[in-house]
Amino acid sequence: MKKPPIIWLNTSLFSITFLVAAIGVPWYLISAGFSWSLLIAFVVLAIYAGISITAGYHRLWSHRAYEAHWSVRLLFALGGALALQNSALHWSSDHREHHKHVDHDEKDPYSISRGFWFAHIGWMLREYHEHRYNDYSNVKDLQKDKIVMWQHKYYLPLTLFMNIGVPLIIGFAIGHVWGAVLFAGFLRIVVGHHTTFFINSLAHIWGKQTYTDKNSARDNGFLAFLTYGEGYHNFHHIFSGDYRNGIRWYHFDPSKWLIKTFAWFGLAKNLKKAKPYQIKKARLEMAIKRLSTRQSTMAQRLREKLEAQYDALLEELQAQLRVQNQRPDRQGD
Ligand SMILES: [Zn+2]
Ligand SMILES: [Zn+2]
Repeated sequence: MKKPPIIWLNTSLFSITFLVAAIGVPWYLISAGFSWSLLIAFVVLAIYAGISITAGYHRLWSHRAYEAHWSVRLLFALGGALALQNSALHWSSDHREHHKHVDHDEKDPYSISRGFWFAHIGWMLREYHEHRYNDYSNVKDLQKDKIVMWQHKYYLPLTLFMNIGVPLIIGFAIGHVWGAVLFAGFLRIVVGHHTTFFINSLAHIWGKQTYTDKNSARDNGFLAFLTYGEGYHNFHHIFSGDYRNGIRWYHFDPSKWLIKTFAWFGLAKNLKKAKPYQIKKARLEMAIKRLSTRQSTMAQRLREKLEAQYDALLEELQAQLRVQNQRPDRQGD
């Protein structure tokens, strides 16, 4: 089958940012040395962009798991432009398709059934879903949000300002212009991209199916650490309307903590949660299922062991019979 045409904008964007970060950052460290101010700029912008995607694009807009004050939405719209992952409208449209058709080759935009590379980044490099590029019929509700539409309309100038303008401003302020462009710009973009993409790739391969095995999503504490709490992806796929992804107190879910903090200050409301009995029911069903498959594998192993012993015994008996038959008949001696 002929491959769909390459999307050059995305392909060059991912390649150039990666190459500049991979070559420029070590070059800068060798020639100009390490600077704490650059590391702080990298971390602050990485967290701002990352959490705008997880708490904003994902939980607020894609899933409507809570409602947010306009100031919070504006903050996320700017942070989302900084993350360089397309507009909130486009991102949410893709993501809703992902949930609706999860694991189905054709309809899930980043289906893991087409492999790690495809789910991670490949789906954005070619026009696999060209018919979908201007189809925003599944995000009609978001089209009523003025901030979403403003960000969508002015996405290009916004993303250029956030990704070039802001690092330059920081660079002039701390006296390391090139360093800021490399650390707070390129390196931060690349790290932010790939950690987010891990949710579409690794979080559908690696981890536990705590609540359901009807789809490939996994719960993974390590991925939650890299993605502001989004690693509890098995829970998320079954209870996608819940504003939390990590539901236990010890789960690392800064996106949940941020939303909760906004709610304390009156900046977020109607935080949705799945019913505790539904969560418990799903968890118990999976535990029972796991146990019964474990039991049946144990029984299977035991049966194989016994069958092997039985076969060995039969062989030994046959061998003894053969030996007896071969002996000369001594009767009559
Ligand atoms: Zn998923
Ligand atoms: Zn989701």
